Amino acid sequence: MIATIGEFVECESPSDNPAAVNRFVELVSDTVSPFAAVRTFPGGSFGKHVVCEMKLPGKKKSGRILTLGHSDTVWTSGTLRSMPFRKSNGRLYGPGIYDMKAGIVFFLFAARALRDLEIQVSSHVLLQLNSDEEVGSDSSRALTEKNAARSHAVLVLEPGTGLSGKLKTARKGVGSFTVVVRGRASHAGLDYQSGASAIVELARQIERIAFLTQVRRGITVNPGVINGGTRSNVVAAEARVEVDMRVLRQRDALTLEKKLRALRPFDKRCSIEISGGLNRPPMERSAGTVRLFHLARKLAAELGVAAEESLSGGGSDGNFTAALGVPTLDGLGAVGEGAHAINENILIDRMADRTALLAKLLAAI
Ligand SMILES: [Zn+2]
Repeated sequence: MIATIGEFVECESPSDNPAAVNRFVELVSDTVSPFAAVRTFPGGSFGKHVVCEMKLPGKKKSGRILTLGHSDTVWTSGTLRSMPFRKSNGRLYGPGIYDMKAGIVFFLFAARALRDLEIQVSSHVLLQLNSDEEVGSDSSRALTEKNAARSHAVLVLEPGTGLSGKLKTARKGVGSFTVVVRGRASHAGLDYQSGASAIVELARQIERIAFLTQVRRGITVNPGVINGGTRSNVVAAEARVEVDMRVLRQRDALTLEKKLRALRPFDKRCSIEISGGLNRPPMERSAGTVRLFHLARKLAAELGVAAEESLSGGGSDGNFTAALGVPTLDGLGAVGEGAHAINENILIDRMADRTALLAKLLAAI
């Protein structure tokens, strides 16, 4: 497994380099093709998405399990030079190892174990790897939703939470908005009063926007980037803010969006334009997802591992599948730390039990 993980990590696949992602997709396809029917789908300006119909033991299969992952990473090509794949103190390091190439390898070895041990599987099993997850999944979303709608469970190979590898039963929904204020430019000295400052107006609006946050309800609204104006001696004609919004509940997203769109200027000479929306709906902790988690907890206990659940503030493709009402269990991939960070690593001694848990889930669902 370590050798395969090394091979996968050393085949770099940044989201914005479709040729590199396609090379990685080919590597995965070659690895899986002896025991799967592999199909690729165009990813627009990104690499190809790949769907593998696994050939697993079991005579009478009904229903389908969708296993979801992504082939892209946040690391640019050449990162390996400063962040090589390496093993140290019981951990494996390298770009994209934790998020989420190790998770893909766990799944492939789980499938192999089911075949080698001739363990009967009662559902059809699909593996889908998207090429654009780290940049919002615009080109893969429809494919994910199509395959999820035909499945009775979705297992997501994203890493678990923290160094105990908690599974993820809920994820916040993520929205991004741009608020543009247009005022009226004038000379700050000669003609101050005929100007209407977009910056002053925006500053007042930002206070309203930031106060939409309700931490205890799981709502955060973060004005993350501002810009505007041209020179200090000009009353600013335009200013804008980019806002990140996170919610636990779909209905909160609707309410918040309504409140944002209802912003009216304090200074009537200014105008406000809002664009954007929810990129990923929240993955709510549904009864179906809780049932999947309870099953995983029971199967993990058979392996001598205590599985716990967690809520993640970040989104994944599991948000889309859960929003369709399909029971979705996320965070089944690697245990480690440092996603998107230079110390990205996984724990070697948790590779076997995570792989076994995946195999047991595929057989039990
Ligand atoms: Zn990921």
